[in-house]
Amino acid sequence: MLEVRALGSRYGRIPALHGIDLRVGAGELVALVGANGAGKTTLLRTISGVQPASGGAIGFEGREVTALSARARVKLGIVQVPEGRQVFAPMSVEDNLRLGAFARGRADALDEVIAFFPALREKRRQPAGLLSGGQQQMLAIARALMAQPRLLLLDEPSMGLAPRLVAEIFAHIAALRARGTTVLLVDQNARAALAVADRGYVMEAGRIALQGVAADLLRDPQVQRAYLGL
Ligand code: ATP
Repeated sequence: MLEVRALGSRYGRIPALHGIDLRVGAGELVALVGANGAGKTTLLRTISGVQPASGGAIGFEGREVTALSARARVKLGIVQVPEGRQVFAPMSVEDNLRLGAFARGRADALDEVIAFFPALREKRRQPAGLLSGGQQQMLAIARALMAQPRLLLLDEPSMGLAPRLVAEIFAHIAALRARGTTVLLVDQNARAALAVADRGYVMEAGRIALQGVAADLLRDPQVQRAYLGL
């Protein structure tokens, strides 16, 4: 579904991504892990088109999208849940969800999407800013689902959440995969991300350092030492 080849990206003169090769197959959940500043967010933003590529190519469902705007990529079904949730705080939960279907998807999918997140159901008419951090993360994911993504890019969904809520968010991500949604997931919590993923990539200093079946990466001594605190 997604094929990234020799992708580069830079902030001014400073390169942040160097020759990234990465693939995500239809229906796969792929985790991208690595230390702070490794380039995970930059890679997601370059795939969604929010950040320009400085070299290489991004193929999506058989066509090259490298030069397309972020908006055009959303229309094709590449939908990103940004780091830090970024819900529209003064607007109601329902209106946040309706906006998710602005460029793509169906506003009438609201009941279907909200049924997937019981914690949001009773808060439908409340301003999103009054939700807890975990509920805001669920709303950010639900808002993206309103666009009926072909490929969902999830950036740090567990950031800043209490352990119980982290488990809940990852259970939702596992359920999305079980429904057949294709997901590229970035998370600092390498253990939890690799535990729900089919395959994984480890990034270091703007490069892919390791890749493989997620269960194998979890057992890899190098990954265990560097990212799992073992
Ligand atoms: P984190 O988990 O902290 O978000 P990350 O792996 O997602 O880390 P990026 O945020 O992609 O890493 O950052 C990759 C590199 O690019 C870092 O060296 C970072 O300092 C730099 N960088 C990120 N955003 C900008 C920016 N807007 N301007 C300049 N440099 C940036």
